[in-house]
Amino acid sequence: MSDYKNTTDFDYDLFVIGAGSGGVRASRIAAGHGARAAVAEEYRVGGTCVIRGCVPKKLLVYGAHFAEDLNDAAMFGWDVPVKRFDWAVLRDNVAAEVTRLEGLYGQTLASHKVETFLERATVAGPNTVRLASGKTVTAAKILIATGARPFMPEIEGIEHAITSNEVFLLESLPKRIVIVGGGYIANEFAGVFHQFGSHVTIVNRSDTILRGYDDSMRDRLLQISIGKGVDFRFKASFDRIEKRDDGMLHLAMNGCDDLQADAVLFAVGRKPNIEGLGLEEAGVELGERGEVKVDQDSRTSVPTIFAVGDVTDRIQLTPVAIREGQAFADAQFGSGGTPVDYDCVPNAVFSHPPIAGVGLTESQAREKYGTIKTFTSDFRAMKNVLAGRNERSLFKLVVDEASERVVGIHMIGPDAPEILQAAAIAVKAGLKKADFDATVALHPTMAEELVLMR
Ligand code: NDP
Repeated sequence: MSDYKNTTDFDYDLFVIGAGSGGVRASRIAAGHGARAAVAEEYRVGGTCVIRGCVPKKLLVYGAHFAEDLNDAAMFGWDVPVKRFDWAVLRDNVAAEVTRLEGLYGQTLASHKVETFLERATVAGPNTVRLASGKTVTAAKILIATGARPFMPEIEGIEHAITSNEVFLLESLPKRIVIVGGGYIANEFAGVFHQFGSHVTIVNRSDTILRGYDDSMRDRLLQISIGKGVDFRFKASFDRIEKRDDGMLHLAMNGCDDLQADAVLFAVGRKPNIEGLGLEEAGVELGERGEVKVDQDSRTSVPTIFAVGDVTDRIQLTPVAIREGQAFADAQFGSGGTPVDYDCVPNAVFSHPPIAGVGLTESQAREKYGTIKTFTSDFRAMKNVLAGRNERSLFKLVVDEASERVVGIHMIGPDAPEILQAAAIAVKAGLKKADFDATVALHPTMAEELVLMR
């Protein structure tokens, strides 16, 4: 619906820098409201999630699952005589799918009449954007949606390491891969490469993986990963990385023995893309981690400049960036938007097996409410039992004793993220444990455990 009254003083009503999840949503919704919108993208339309994040990662996770599924097939009567994994086939098919999606994103922008500039753009003033081609354009409002990129620590030889940007493009499957970090990306790629047949070693500076997740889930993933053969080196750091003549990497370590690897993947967090954008010169205030500081309407310290998504480092998740882009566009160009609600955002780690959670962890709930109750179900999925796979799932409900509300759900096991998305509605709606109990189980499923915990 076109309800926005265009400003005539500027070339555009909105100029967005960055065509990722947040920028694409904001620009097309603004254009839908009648704004004259443009977006600039220096790399590929779609941003981290589509091009080198969630989407290709999830496809690799699917690909990796076949390793176990093909093994388990035997107990289900299937004879699979030849099992051979070809990395190049999967890599190229994933790349083709990413290119297809990139095209769709471009089409969406075009069909919403968002003008797209495939070049770098920087801020030249409160209402001015400079394009790499030298052209300068003006806009009533500017939106910074430039995302974040992998953080690389200063270590001698770090140029021999890769990040999650390059991992999708590897020439060949590494026989031995060292993955640095204990967060989302490290655990997801540890599962992927292990299933493909690489020997995986995770190196982390602390002895904690997935900080912020419920302790029981983290412990379970660690035990399962160790059981599968993933090696962990905790409280370890790098002295230097050397590339030998035969291409092998020698990792000189502190806190553990030196390591040899064919590839080293750093996954030690991401930092906002703000360098050279002209933000500080334009008066945009930045935070300690380099993030663009914004208020609840995503407005920066310069009233005409806004920012959404990872560059603001609120919650680095695609659906959050999309909501921020939508809320911004509705508020500024539509009839008013609802500020983003950051409470009870569900999250998942697509490890093997995956973890998913919503709301407070057990320790967070104890700190907040004092007295809580927890209900757990520790079980072996039916499919795993027949397959002879000794891998147990764990579901946990965290309940505030006073209000009897379920304030957190945490799960590790097959399809946990698929199950949790629906369960998250109950937590967000503030349902009580009694509401779960009153719901009849759907049998036989893993999800039924959610309503059977007593
Ligand atoms: P995370 O923030 O998840 O984890 C970072 C890890 O690196 C931690 O184990 C941390 O250790 C360690 N670390 C941090 N700084 C350093 C340092 N200077 N030197 C050595 N180690 C360090 O980061 P990721 O890179 O895995 O992911 C980045 C973000 O991307 C995530 O936070 C998430 O928001 C998003 N993401 C989401 C996914 C999903 O939703 N499934 C998937 C992938 C990414 P310690 O904890 O001990 O301090």
